[in-house]
Amino acid sequence: MAPGQKVLVVEDNPINMELAATLLESAGYRVLRAQDAEEGIVLAGSVCPSIILMDVGLPGMDGLKATAVLKQNPKTNRIPIVALTAHAMKGDRERALEAGCDGYIEKPIDTRRFPQMVAGFLRSNRDPRP
Ligand code: MN
Repeated sequence: MAPGQKVLVVEDNPINMELAATLLESAGYRVLRAQDAEEGIVLAGSVCPSIILMDVGLPGMDGLKATAVLKQNPKTNRIPIVALTAHAMKGDRERALEAGCDGYIEKPIDTRRFPQMVAGFLRSNRDPRP
C-alpha cells in the first residue's frame, strides 16, 4: 500500500463516513469526503483519487447512476469504483457491477479488514499503462 494515496468516499450517512474515513486515515490514506453524488462527481474530476468508495443509497442521484456518469467520462473512467452495498440488499451487488463498479464492499463494513480490502482493490485495478 502506498501511503498518501487519495481515496474519495461518497457516503451520505455521517456515522458511516467517519468510520470509513477514520479507518482509511489510520492506514495512511488521504480521504476526500463527499456527501452526495454530485459532490462526488465534481471531486473525482478535480482531485483524481486513486479509488472511489461509492455508497449505493444516496439522496437524489444514487451511487449507481453516479458510477455510470463517472465511467462515461474519459477524465474519470479509469478510477476504480467500489460500491458500498447494504448486506441485506442482494440485488445491489449485481446492479453495482452492471453500473460499472469494479467491485463492492458490504456494509456494515468489517472494520478489521476494511483497509486491506481497499488495498486489494487498488492492487487489482492498478493500471499497467504509463
Ligand atoms: Mn446512504
